[in-house]
Amino acid sequence: MSKEMISLETAQAIVLDHVLPTPPERIASWQAAGRPLAEDVVTDIDLAPYANSAMDGYAVRAADLAAAGESAPVVLEVIGHEAAGEVFEGAVGVGQTIRIMTGAPLPDGADAVVKYEIVEVLEGDGNEGSRVAFRHAVPVGNDVRRAGLEARAGDVVMRAGEVPSAAGVGLLASAGAAEVAVHTRPVVGIISIGSEIVDPTRVPRRGQIRDANASVLLAAAREAGAEPRFFGIVADDPVSIRELVMRAAAECDMVITSGGASSGDYDYVTALVAQEGEVLFDYISLRPGKAITFGMVRDVPFLGLSGNPAAAAVGFEMLARPAIRRMLGFSAGPRPVQLARIGHDVPKKQERRYYNRARLARDGETGELVVMEAKSQDSSLLGTLQHANCLVMVPEGRRGYAAGDAVPCVRIDIDEGTVL
Ligand code: AMP
Ligand code: MG
Repeated sequence: MSKEMISLETAQAIVLDHVLPTPPERIASWQAAGRPLAEDVVTDIDLAPYANSAMDGYAVRAADLAAAGESAPVVLEVIGHEAAGEVFEGAVGVGQTIRIMTGAPLPDGADAVVKYEIVEVLEGDGNEGSRVAFRHAVPVGNDVRRAGLEARAGDVVMRAGEVPSAAGVGLLASAGAAEVAVHTRPVVGIISIGSEIVDPTRVPRRGQIRDANASVLLAAAREAGAEPRFFGIVADDPVSIRELVMRAAAECDMVITSGGASSGDYDYVTALVAQEGEVLFDYISLRPGKAITFGMVRDVPFLGLSGNPAAAAVGFEMLARPAIRRMLGFSAGPRPVQLARIGHDVPKKQERRYYNRARLARDGETGELVVMEAKSQDSSLLGTLQHANCLVMVPEGRRGYAAGDAVPCVRIDIDEGTVL
């Protein structure tokens, strides 16, 4: 078997090469907020569907008011009104106006709106039969939203791959798209491997350890947009591991195990993948988490993460999350990376690339971004990840950092594609 160390970029490229966007499903469009669309959405009507008023006021013929001035008011006769859902079917002639509410259609003849606040009611209550005075000329189109301001019937209002926001799903609704196509949430099977692993409901005896990784991976998979499914804890026994992995592969779009992925005496994962499919890599320049096996098991992508909880979490972040996002149709690249001044020396003993758990904050006085690593980077510690908002990257070929260096911080607390 290989045991050839590859770069993280190579590993990521291999993983992304072996996953495809999942088939589309149709869901209520408001539910699509935050998920890339699987097809273009076309509006069936003009948006806005008709010219309408941007203000509560009076619909006028701009030409009628051309001579209006502070000392030369133009007086118009109010011949009708429009409120929500109440349409004035007549036309506004020379010397005439109608009272109009925001959003109401601009009547025939009228080409501008004057807001209520600057109109003086001379006679009547401001509705039909009243006479109102205008002291300002207005241009054609004043306070009018023209038909098709946002889009024309037949226009694409949102492209496949675009991710609607809450506002965006409102636009889809306006376009008549009550349902839209998105990529089905990939089903990600999670398996915990290790004879010492016990369910969290149990108090571990000496030599046993509670299953933390299943929780980490289930939560991270859901956060990435997948539908996680737990297949259970399995002992370090090749027959049982095979049985569970094959069952998961039959039911899932991707299978992720933790534990048993290194080259210890009881590590059967890589051998299993080799037997049932193809191992594409099993050793990455990455700390924590060098022992990561990736391959295809019966055409299903399989990721075997190290059992050390922080290593499993970082391995998921670097390899599984991008895969899940690709399946969901996301195109935004990796997490944002930000430079910050490190508050202390960072030693590095191994050649591998480090991703150290750290916390980024702004200095209260200088406003400068400063980053401090967790005191211990031991890969068994999950609390350090809980408190981290970034991972400080120390590349291969670097012997660490000195206090005060500007260092790259991977922002694991914000979405891919966020502009910093
Ligand atoms: P392994 O990758 O099997 O060599 O495991 C590495 C370390 O991670 C060992 O100390 C295991 O006990 C621990 N470990 C493995 N699986 C889990 C798990 N599901 N939850 C918590 N710790 C684990
Ligand atoms: Mg083990």
